[in-house]
Amino acid sequence: YNKARTFFVGGNFKMNGSLESVKSIVDRLNESKLAASTEVVIAPPAPYLYWAAQNNKKSQVFIAAQNSYDKASGAYTGEISVNCLKDVGATWVILGHSERRTILKETDEMVASKTKFALDNGVKVILCIGETLEERKAGITLEVCARQLDAVSSKVSDWSDVVVAYEPVWAIGTGLAATPEDAEETHVGIRKHLASTIGAEQAEKVRILYGGSVNGKNANTFKDKANIDGFLVGGASLKPEFVDIINSRE
Ligand code: PGA
Repeated sequence: YNKARTFFVGGNFKMNGSLESVKSIVDRLNESKLAASTEVVIAPPAPYLYWAAQNNKKSQVFIAAQNSYDKASGAYTGEISVNCLKDVGATWVILGHSERRTILKETDEMVASKTKFALDNGVKVILCIGETLEERKAGITLEVCARQLDAVSSKVSDWSDVVVAYEPVWAIGTGLAATPEDAEETHVGIRKHLASTIGAEQAEKVRILYGGSVNGKNANTFKDKANIDGFLVGGASLKPEFVDIINSRE
């Protein structure tokens, strides 16, 4: 891996948990020895963000929302304002997750607009991209990733507060992680594409995470891949093995 890019591990709790379980995850992180060089971001469901931020004692752990809107406030029932996120101590947001793209019908354009709004208002973004199984079989993995990235780069020129999470849809929650080789190949393609749109200098700095069935056992198999700068973890972020993933570069 490339030490110039700080290793990043995100925990996406999705729509799971309770006050009690979120507290036990935060407590576990508080009490565990975490690799000092790893940046950790946990994303509990919105009702628990304040609680998580209040209970977090680790300076290397940050709190993320799983969604936010592209307006500051107003008559947008059910949406989440980035101003409210900052107010409760969440400094990151996950945008464009495949579950939101597929189930909630978020378009590339919506994801891009929300990304721009969050960044303009001082909230950092974990931008999720990735192809479906059909798209992979059709050999258009990189085209899909490029299209999803281009929507954002047409609106956002400064990518210093963006982390890209490459999450092939077929690997999410299936137990079938991409091989380190397949993931690296796509990460290289993503970085090359970013270089062509936002410039080589910025592209070299952007962290590209792999996501999809990462767990405590397979995390260290990605270690020797130069373009895999961390992970976005779903299911395993709810379990004690999340700590092993955080420490998987040691
Ligand atoms: P998973 O989910 O780790 O449970 O596969 C990853 C994600 O959706 O971010």
